[in-house]
Amino acid sequence: MNQPVSSEENPFQAMQARLDLAAARLGLEPNVIAILRTCEREITISMPVVMDDGSVNVFEGYRVQHSTSRGPAKGGIRYAPNVNRDEVRALAAWMTWKCAVVNVPFGGGKGGVICDPFKLSKGELERVTRRYVSGIMDLLGPDRDVPAPDMGTDGQVMAWFMDTYSMHQRSYLPAVVTGKPISLGGSLGRIEATGRGVMLVTREALKHLGMKAKDCTAAVQGAGNVGMISALQLATLGVKIVAISDMHGGIHNPKGLDLEAVKAHLQKHKRLDGFEGASKISNGDLLELPVDILVPAATENVITSRNAGNIKAKIITEGANGPCTANADKILDQKGIFVIPDILANAGGVTVSYFEWVQDRQMFFWTQEEVEQRMERIMVDSFASVVDMARRFQVSNRIAAYMLGVNRVAETTRQRGIYA
Ligand code: NAD
Repeated sequence: MNQPVSSEENPFQAMQARLDLAAARLGLEPNVIAILRTCEREITISMPVVMDDGSVNVFEGYRVQHSTSRGPAKGGIRYAPNVNRDEVRALAAWMTWKCAVVNVPFGGGKGGVICDPFKLSKGELERVTRRYVSGIMDLLGPDRDVPAPDMGTDGQVMAWFMDTYSMHQRSYLPAVVTGKPISLGGSLGRIEATGRGVMLVTREALKHLGMKAKDCTAAVQGAGNVGMISALQLATLGVKIVAISDMHGGIHNPKGLDLEAVKAHLQKHKRLDGFEGASKISNGDLLELPVDILVPAATENVITSRNAGNIKAKIITEGANGPCTANADKILDQKGIFVIPDILANAGGVTVSYFEWVQDRQMFFWTQEEVEQRMERIMVDSFASVVDMARRFQVSNRIAAYMLGVNRVAETTRQRGIYA
């Protein structure tokens, strides 16, 4: 099994460190804290899959449910070579707090398969997905556990997911998973939702800080669903995007990137390098650019105690889950950087996943406008609640967001009581 390299970079311990701080400020009872610090249910499966050349590869997969106190477990499935159990645990817990911050009636879960989706053929990807679904089948269901896309998975993977589950249940059950293609019960606006949410909370932060979008520059790490769409959405506010990257490195143009050309290049070549009209920049250097807004939208632990002191952005909007370590938090706070924490900043995705689940259960579908308006109201209100909490308790936005989410989960935990 893959393991994180150091305790600073253990995302589950990082989650617990923030939970402890929030719980202390809330004055939570030790019994409730003990429950919230652990995951309810975890499964590890070995998945033999026949590869295209006839060989059999045994993949390792996980599904973790951190909490079902407020509703069915909700959270994406990650396909990546470095997925590990503590990462999945942390991602599951972040989903619990995130759903509570935006007050959607879900708990938190997450899944992962150790594989490199870019090295698998389409047929291999389908067989891995179907085998994974059948291996975690007993945990799943529209009222139990509802997965979604994450790094390395997309609408096609969700379609195979829904098909495998529905075939086994002998029913058409699109509400078992979100992020599906529209024709299979997906929601309008889901693909854009996380990036649009990133834009909305950044817009609110700019207003809060008295900054004008048109005078601002931004750098975005990650050019996938979250990164690319966040960049495009921020540009609609008038923000100049000067750098963007993928796992192979980044591109930088201080005069601003032509994002439509970047998108076309990415679609054609599947990677950013080779893009004309910009110079190369490493992922590390991109984070330290002198920009107003920094959007880490790739992976965890990219801002740590080693580089937090060099960050020059005034606002960090965490499109990714867990991009800053707990040690980095302290340095960013001291520097007065306005951090919009992941459990708020990227919650637009789960908010529209909730809308998708609601629509699937009713078999009654909303217009894009309805989806966008409802999502905007939730993101704007949640931003205001977090900033208000931070002001009242004199804590960072991150601890304020944890306090808001953790308190809601603590409340249902107490109300439900302990079944013995
Ligand atoms: P994706 O697979 O669509 O894109 C990931 C991007 O990050 C790609 O451009 C990839 O090349 C790049 N990348 C991967 N590893 C990298 C590394 N080590 N350094 C730099 N770049 C790297 O994934 P996504 O859905 O955009 O997810 C990105 C992040 O956003 C993850 O942390 C995910 O958990 C989080 N997130 C996603 C959603 C969603 O709706 N998709 C919602 C909330 C949060």
